[in-house]
Amino acid sequence: MRRKLFIIAVVVSLVLCGVFALLWPLNRTYHEYVTYGRPLDANGERWLFNLTADANGVALTCAFDHRTDPSYQPLLGWRFVARPYPSSRGPFKLPYQVSHSLLGFTYAHEPRRIGYQRIPVVTVNDRALTVPYWFLIVVTLLLPAIALHRWHRRRRRIGENRCLTCGYDLRASPERCPECGAIPLQP
Ligand SMILES: [Zn+2]
Repeated sequence: MRRKLFIIAVVVSLVLCGVFALLWPLNRTYHEYVTYGRPLDANGERWLFNLTADANGVALTCAFDHRTDPSYQPLLGWRFVARPYPSSRGPFKLPYQVSHSLLGFTYAHEPRRIGYQRIPVVTVNDRALTVPYWFLIVVTLLLPAIALHRWHRRRRRIGENRCLTCGYDLRASPERCPECGAIPLQP
């Protein structure tokens, strides 16, 4: 069971790594986002969370919206949007003033914004944390690297007649590992 979960995690990790490696060059001229539109409450307000892939990396944004036009009703439910971005306008970056930046990680905070893209909403405490592609790729390569290391070690132990669990030399005791008690696979 644990082994199965590990293999699933490795495969998911590899797929994500491929996605990030693809988005990195692609998002010079594209951007994508995933969002969940919640209804506005009785005061015409709501929290809004967004996951956006721009030219720098993947950003988690969080903002508080307040409607200024009572007739305005935002789109509700889950949305995934992938849009081309004109290359003449340079790489797409989220429209934020970055306040902190380190090795591609950025943090931005806008205390107040009015009617972005003509939407009749005042947005307060708009925050965006961007994680760069290089970091996402390194992180998603960790599990596959561990899996590769284990596979390599297992093959070496089989070749050297060592215990697959702990690496103890089994030439003198081929039935059972005296170190950890594991029963070796019968060839
Ligand atoms: Zn052993």
